Amino acid sequence: MNRHPGRLVLLGHPVAHSLSPAFQNAALRSAGLPLTYEALDVTPAELSAEITRLVELRAAGNATIPHKETVRVLCDTVTPVAERVGAVNTFWVEDGKLCGDNTDVAGFASSVAGVVGREPRNVTVAVIGAGGSAAAVVAAVEQWEGCRAVVWGRTAPRAAALAARFACATPAATLSAAIHGAGIVVNATPIGIGSDDMPVDPALCRRQSIIVDLVYRRGETPWVRRARRHGLRAIDGLPMLIEQGALAFERWFGRTADREAMWNAVR
Ligand code: NAP
Repeated sequence: MNRHPGRLVLLGHPVAHSLSPAFQNAALRSAGLPLTYEALDVTPAELSAEITRLVELRAAGNATIPHKETVRVLCDTVTPVAERVGAVNTFWVEDGKLCGDNTDVAGFASSVAGVVGREPRNVTVAVIGAGGSAAAVVAAVEQWEGCRAVVWGRTAPRAAALAARFACATPAATLSAAIHGAGIVVNATPIGIGSDDMPVDPALCRRQSIIVDLVYRRGETPWVRRARRHGLRAIDGLPMLIEQGALAFERWFGRTADREAMWNAVR
């Protein structure tokens, strides 16, 4: 573990909209650490050279869209969970080597436990979307006793390829087949970020379903608001975002992150 990173960054493209600097800097201030967490807009073409520079500086940080899969490839060593997901969202340098982890999986699991009241058991999870965050969701479902994931993506071969990587997962032919019988329905697409579109009408979900939107925005997402009006329990992506960030902080510094300070920074 690198307890003294030379620099702390978020690599993304675009990245200006990210809430991570606000809550990571709050955690740094609370811990009395003299570092600033900076968002760096790095294009895919620039990523490899930027990583080389950051390794020389013993930097640590996060990777976000579209860099998580490439950073995993550039790492010298990754944790088993990052290997399972195929993506790195948290990196640091140890003995000159770039190390990677994926804290999205535990961040997602923690956010679901927050709404369910405990780790889910014996439940079917419908996953809408088949990209990097969908893989993190399925990797979390894989760790839950008796749980299955049903994956639906608008690009069917991508959903089939994701499901094929996990014994707990099957692809769904249609969106309605995916949500039929699901106890938890997860939006792992960007739908709802900048519009009032919803991944699926909550009225079509089972009455007891829990709605988990990985998307977050000020005032919650349209899907979460509509699901609550329909009497369903629902959370947006903010609890996952804060928890993946807190776990990353703990990776970099080997000390507990001040989650209350992090939440206060985004409220
Ligand atoms: P990604 O790898 O680009 O995958 C996006 C998935 O959504 C793909 O399967 C894509 O389908 C699908 N999709 C995109 N637009 C769609 C549309 N209009 N209708 C139906 N499907 C659509 O992205 P990602 O990393 O998985 O991230 C997805 C979203 O999750 C992000 O936008 C972000 O808001 C959220 N997220 C939140 C957190 C958090 O901490 N809360 C963490 C990670 C991600 P195709 O395969 O056909 O392109």
